[in-house]
Amino acid sequence: MNLADITQLTALLSVPQKIVIVPHKNPDGDAIGSTLGLWHFLKNKGQEATIISPNDFPKFLKWMPGAAAILNFESENSQSKKAIEEATLIFTLDFNHLGRIGQMQPFLEAVKVPIIMIDHHQEPSDYALVTYSDVTMSSTCEMVYNFIDLIGDTSEITPEIANCLYTGIMTDTGSFKYASTTSKTHRIIAELMDKGAKNTYIHNVIFDTNSPSRLHLLGCALKNMVILEGFNTAYITLSQDELDTYKFKKGDTEGFVNYGLTLEGIKFAVIFIENKEEGIIKISLRSEGDFSVNEFARAHFEGGGHTNAAGGKSDLSLEETAKYFVNLLPKYQKELTK
Ligand code: 5GP
Ligand code: MN
Repeated sequence: MNLADITQLTALLSVPQKIVIVPHKNPDGDAIGSTLGLWHFLKNKGQEATIISPNDFPKFLKWMPGAAAILNFESENSQSKKAIEEATLIFTLDFNHLGRIGQMQPFLEAVKVPIIMIDHHQEPSDYALVTYSDVTMSSTCEMVYNFIDLIGDTSEITPEIANCLYTGIMTDTGSFKYASTTSKTHRIIAELMDKGAKNTYIHNVIFDTNSPSRLHLLGCALKNMVILEGFNTAYITLSQDELDTYKFKKGDTEGFVNYGLTLEGIKFAVIFIENKEEGIIKISLRSEGDFSVNEFARAHFEGGGHTNAAGGKSDLSLEETAKYFVNLLPKYQKELTK
């Protein structure tokens, strides 16, 4: 964000606005944490603000302060559309193009009011009046902290805001271990703890609230894992039948893909999850080092993300998708085995 952007934003926020804040579809900890952190901040400034999520989000994020006030565009459709129609200012958080908000896309494309993007994904599209994009950032939550800092308001960070931003930084950095974690990230985390973020509570409520069925589903996923040593690659498939057997609930497969990377020598890990309702295979891709899963997902699975974490989808069957994937690997053998 440059000085002109900051001046423009300060001016926009110096008058009463009706603000709508939007995370991406299937929002994760960073998407919910950043939208809620910003929401608390704007409301405390006296602004009217509403978060509209394109769809529901996992139970392990519902404890977050303010989560109950988030509108679900799918199940609270008319209320959500009304809020978008009446909005005078829109923030879009944790995504880089409007294709990431599912059914909300045409409604946001139609708005005439200013849009502010805050995001850390590669290759942002040009739809916003102010594009605060920084791919070096660990998380959108870290950027919301920086945004509050840039407009000179860190003294206004409440315990609610601190807990929300801590959560998103923690989930997007794999608990502060991914390469995107900088010393500045740790300094911000320290600030957030000083301002009331309850670190132990947050770790417990996110990671230690498993259900037995989720652990059984993990067991199934690990059993299904295929290791392709010649390509330093491991992939997992989960069929709709398997998900049903283990009573899959939204968020249950979060983190499964990372197990592949815990194998010695494995640099590329993928999970293919069948979604019969949407008629697609949802794909998560992870890598260690400089193999770009963002580029891989863009090239083959209509997706994208970051160098080491990306997502995408396939319209083929689960078996065909896995076969298609395995057949792509020889082209990347050199990169994967260097
Ligand atoms: P996850 O695998 O955890 O769903 O997502 C990993 C990263 O890739 C996140 O930063 C997420 O925003 C991004 N991502 C996930 N799915 C998609 C997708 O379908 N398209 C694009 N462009 N990015 C995605
Ligand atoms: Mn993020």
